[in-house]
Amino acid sequence: MPIQILPPDVADKIAAGEVVERPASVVKELIENSLDAGATDIRVEIADGGKRLIRVIDNGRGIPAAEAPLAFQRHATSKIRSAEELERIATLGFRGEALAAISAVSKVTLITRSREEPVGVELKLEGSKIISQRPMGAPPGTSLTVAHLFWNTPARKKFLKSNATEAGHISKIVTRYALAYPEVRFSYVAEGRLTFQTPGTGDRMAALVKVYGAEVAGQMLAVDATSDPVTPDVRVSGFVSAPTLHRANRSYIELFVNRRYIQDRNLTFAVVQAYHTLLMTGRYPVAVLFIDMPSELVDVNVHPTKTEVRFREPSLLFRAVQRTVHRALQGQAPVTRELQPPPSPEDYRGQWAARREALMRAGQHDPAPGQLAMDLYRSDLASREEETPLVRREEAAPPPSTSPPGHRLPPLRPVGQIAATYLIAEGPDGMYLIDQHAAHERILYEKIMKADQQPMPKQQLLQPIPIELGTELAGLIAEHLDALNKSGFEIEPFGEGSYLLRTVPAFMGHQDPQALLEEVAEGLARRADLVDKAREEALVTMICKRLAIKAGQILSVAEQRELIRQLEACENPRTCPHGRPTMLHLSAAALEKQFGRLGA
Ligand code: ADP
Ligand code: MG
Repeated sequence: MPIQILPPDVADKIAAGEVVERPASVVKELIENSLDAGATDIRVEIADGGKRLIRVIDNGRGIPAAEAPLAFQRHATSKIRSAEELERIATLGFRGEALAAISAVSKVTLITRSREEPVGVELKLEGSKIISQRPMGAPPGTSLTVAHLFWNTPARKKFLKSNATEAGHISKIVTRYALAYPEVRFSYVAEGRLTFQTPGTGDRMAALVKVYGAEVAGQMLAVDATSDPVTPDVRVSGFVSAPTLHRANRSYIELFVNRRYIQDRNLTFAVVQAYHTLLMTGRYPVAVLFIDMPSELVDVNVHPTKTEVRFREPSLLFRAVQRTVHRALQGQAPVTRELQPPPSPEDYRGQWAARREALMRAGQHDPAPGQLAMDLYRSDLASREEETPLVRREEAAPPPSTSPPGHRLPPLRPVGQIAATYLIAEGPDGMYLIDQHAAHERILYEKIMKADQQPMPKQQLLQPIPIELGTELAGLIAEHLDALNKSGFEIEPFGEGSYLLRTVPAFMGHQDPQALLEEVAEGLARRADLVDKAREEALVTMICKRLAIKAGQILSVAEQRELIRQLEACENPRTCPHGRPTMLHLSAAALEKQFGRLGA
C-alpha cells in the first residue's frame, strides 16, 4: 500500500515512544524497515560507534519517488491503515515514527528506487527538513545514511557512551536479526571492517557459525519442537548451549517471538530452569530461541521499543519452552541442521482456538503475565474504590499521634496535573502544588508501616522467581525478611545466597524484582551506621522510592483524585519519607499579595 498518514484515532491507539535512544536503536529501526521491504540482502555500516555514520543498504522494494518525502512525516506508514489492522500486525514496523524521529536528530540521506520505477530519488534532510531532492540512478532498493546523530541535540549526545560500547550495542542488534532471518544475507561492516556476513541460505546453523564463530556454535544444541501435545500450535526452535558453555548472566539468552526479538523474564527463567542442576549457581546458558505462534495470540503493541510483548497463554508457553530445552539437553531432541520455515498461522490457528476454548471452559485461563505499572496502579485504585471510602477514612482518622495539630491536610479538590509531575489542588486555605512522586512515596511508606493491621495488596507471580544476591547481600536481606514481607515481597531462602520470590507488591508493574532487591540490599549495605528499627525504616524508604509513581507519568483525573485522597489520609502528608516536602502551599492571602490585590 502507499505511504499514508495514519488518521489521528489510529495513531492514538499506538503505544507511542521515543525510538531513537542511541545509535543501536537507529540500526534496529532501519533493519526492520529493510526486512519489511522484503530485502534479501542487507548491509549495515557504522563509523565511530554509529555516532558519525550509520548506513543500511537493502535490495528491498524501495520507495516510489513521489512518496519518499512522506516517509519522514510522523505517523506516515505504508504498513497499516486502520485500528483493526493493529490486531494482526504482520510487519515489524507499523508506527510510522522511526524515520520521522531519526531525521529530527540527524542528517539523513535517502537514496531509494522502487522496483517499478526507472530512476530513483535522493533526498537529504537535516533536523526533519528536506534540504535537497533530486532524481538519481540507483539499483532497486534503499540506502539510508544517518550521519552525526544528535548533532542538534547536544544534551542527548552527551548521554552516548564510548564508540566501543555503542558499537557493541549495534553488533548485538545486527546479530539478532541475522539469526532471526537466516534467509537474508546480512553484512556487517564496523569501522571499515567486514565483521561478519551470513550466507543468506536459510540455514540457521550456518548463520550462527558466522555470527558467533565456530567455537561457540559447536557447543550449541539444536532445538526444534513442534509436536508438543500441550501446545501443538507453538513451535519452539533454535539453539541452546550444552552445559559446557555458560555465561555469568542471563543476557545471552535471546528470545524471539514470530521472529521479533523480545524480552520476557518468565520465558528467560523457563530456559534457565530447564538447566536446573546442570549449571553451577550464578552461571547461565547461552540460547537463541524462536517461538512461532499465531500472531493474534501475542500483543506486540505494548511497549514503544517493542521488546515487550503480552501473551494470551503465558504459562503454557513457559512450560513449552522449558520442556523443549530440557529435552534438547537430555539429547532426545532431533539435532537438525536445516530448519523448516515456520508453519503458517492458518495451519494451527484452528487448533489453538479449540484449546483455548477448552481452557476457558475449564476456568483455567491464565491472567496476563504482567501489566504496565500504570495498569496495576489503576487496578489497585479500582479495587480500593470498591471499598467503602467512609469506613476507610475513619480507620485512617488520626490516632493519638505525636504530630502537631494542623499537620494533616484539609480536604482538597484536585484541579489538575502539570508537567506530568505535579498535581494542583485547592483547599479551603489556598492552593497546593503536590509532587506526585514524593506524595506517593509518603502514602506507600505509611501503608507499609501499617501493614500489620492492613496488608499491602500483593500480586502473586505465575512462577516463583529465584533471586540470586551473593552471600553478603543475601545476608542483609535475610535480616529483613519481615519488612520485605510487609512491603508485599513474599520471599523465602532458597539455598546459598538465593531466595525464591513468590509475590511482589501490586504496584510493582514491569520493574525487575531482582534489580529492585539488589538495589535495596546495596543501599542497606551502605547504611551500616543504622541499627534495628532505623535500618528497617531505611529499607522501607528505599522500597517506596522504587515503587512510587514517577515524575513524568501522566495521571488520569481519577488517579489524581485518589492520590490526593490517600495523601489526605496520611499522618504526615507534608513530607516524603526522606524528609523532603511533598507539596508547596500558597495561601489565598499570599496569592492576593502576589497579584497586588491586597490593600488595592
Ligand atoms: P513504519 O516502519 O512504522 O511504517 P517508518 O518511519 O520506519 O515507519 O517508515 C515509514 C515508511 O517508509 C514505511 O512505512 C515504508 O513505506 C517506507 N520505508 C522506510 N524504509 C524503507 C525501506 N528500507 N524500503 C522501503 N520502504 C521503506
Ligand atoms: Mg519502521
